[in-house]
Amino acid sequence: MNIAEYKGVMVFAEQRDGVLESVGLELIGEASRLAAHLKESVTAVLVGSNIKSLATELASYGADRVIIVDDAVLSHYDTEAYTQAVTAVVNKYKPEIFLVGATTLGRDLAPRLSGRLRTGLTADCTELSIDEATRELWSTRPTFGGNLLATIVCPDHRPQMSSVRPGVMAKLAKDTSRKADVIEEQITFDKSKFKVRFIDKVVDKSKKIDITEAKVLVAGGRGVGKEGMPLLINLAQSLHGELAGTRALVEEGMVESSRQVGQTGKTVKPDLYIAAGISGAIQHVIGMENSELTIAINTDKEAPIFQVADLGVVANFHEVAPVLIKKLGEI
Ligand code: FAD
Repeated sequence: MNIAEYKGVMVFAEQRDGVLESVGLELIGEASRLAAHLKESVTAVLVGSNIKSLATELASYGADRVIIVDDAVLSHYDTEAYTQAVTAVVNKYKPEIFLVGATTLGRDLAPRLSGRLRTGLTADCTELSIDEATRELWSTRPTFGGNLLATIVCPDHRPQMSSVRPGVMAKLAKDTSRKADVIEEQITFDKSKFKVRFIDKVVDKSKKIDITEAKVLVAGGRGVGKEGMPLLINLAQSLHGELAGTRALVEEGMVESSRQVGQTGKTVKPDLYIAAGISGAIQHVIGMENSELTIAINTDKEAPIFQVADLGVVANFHEVAPVLIKKLGEI
C-alpha cells in the first residue's frame, strides 16, 4: 500500500428514508477541522436511492465534494450492498481519513468496510485530532468500562478509519451559499454476494424521543428514587425539556433505556442538563460532559458530578424540586 496516494477526509453521510442523520453533518464539521490541518478537502459519500437532492444540504454544512451512489438496490439498508458501494468509492478516491457515525447502521457497516479495505478501524470515538508532522489521525475512545481513554493510531494503512459517537462533534453553521462538486458513481454490484432479502419494514409507531436532539434534559439518578420520579417528570415538563437518566434508573425500570445517558447509552449536548441525584460516575459523565450548562443537585458535596457541573446545589432533590417547579410556574 502506497499511503502517499491517499488524500483528503471522507465522511459517510448516513440517510434514512431520504433524511440526513445529524451525525453525518457533525462529522463534516469535524472533517473540516481535520482537513484544515492537512490542507485537504472534505468529501461526503451519500448512498441510497433517490437521494441526489440531499447533496445541497451536505454542501451547506461544509462538504467540498459529494459523491453519490444512487441505485434501487440501496433503497433499504443492506450490509453487503452498502459495503460494496462504499468500498468502491473509497478504493477509487483514496481518502486519507474515513469517518462513519457510530449509529446502529454505522456500527454494522464500518467493521465490514475496514475488513474489505484491509485497514484498521477505531470504533466509537469521542475525540479526533491530527499529528501534522506524520499526518496520523489520533482517535480517542473510552475503554476498560470507561475508566481509561485510549488514543489509537493506524500508522501503516489507509484510510485511517474511525466511527464517532453521535452528538459529540459540532456541525458547522449552515450556509446555503456553500457549494460542492457533485459526482455520481455507477457501481456494478455483485448480487451473488447479497445474503439478505428485504421483505417488509415495520415501523414502531410508539412515540420515540431522541434525547440527543433535546435542548433541555432533566436527568435523574438513584438519588431521585422511585418516590421522586413524579417530581423529576414535573420538572422536565416545567422546563419544556425531556427526561433522561443514569443506568441505575434504567435498570430499576424507572426510565426507558432510550433515555439513558452515558457510555452504554446516548451522548448528549443539550443547552441545559440538570443532573439530579446523580453521583457522576465516569461512564455517565462521558455522555453529558459537553452540555452547554450543567446544574447538579446532590446531597453529597463531594459527589464527582460537581466537578463537571457549572452550577452545584448541595441539597435534597425532593426538597429543591418542588421549589423550582413552583418558581417556574410563576414565570
Ligand atoms: P449512584 O452512583 O448510586 O449515585 C446516586 C447519587 O445520588 C449519590 O451521589 C448520592 O449522594 C445522591 N443522592 C442520594 N439521595 C439524594 C437526594 N435525596 N437528593 C439529591 N441527591 C441524592 N451509567 C450511566 O449512567 N450510563 C451509562 O451508559 C453507563 N454505562 C456503564 C458501562 C459500564 C461498562 C459500567 C461498568 C458501568 C456503566 N454505568 C453507566 C454505571 C455507572 O458506573 C454508575 O454505576 C451509574 O452511573 C450510577 O448511577 P447514579 O449516579 O444514578 O447512582
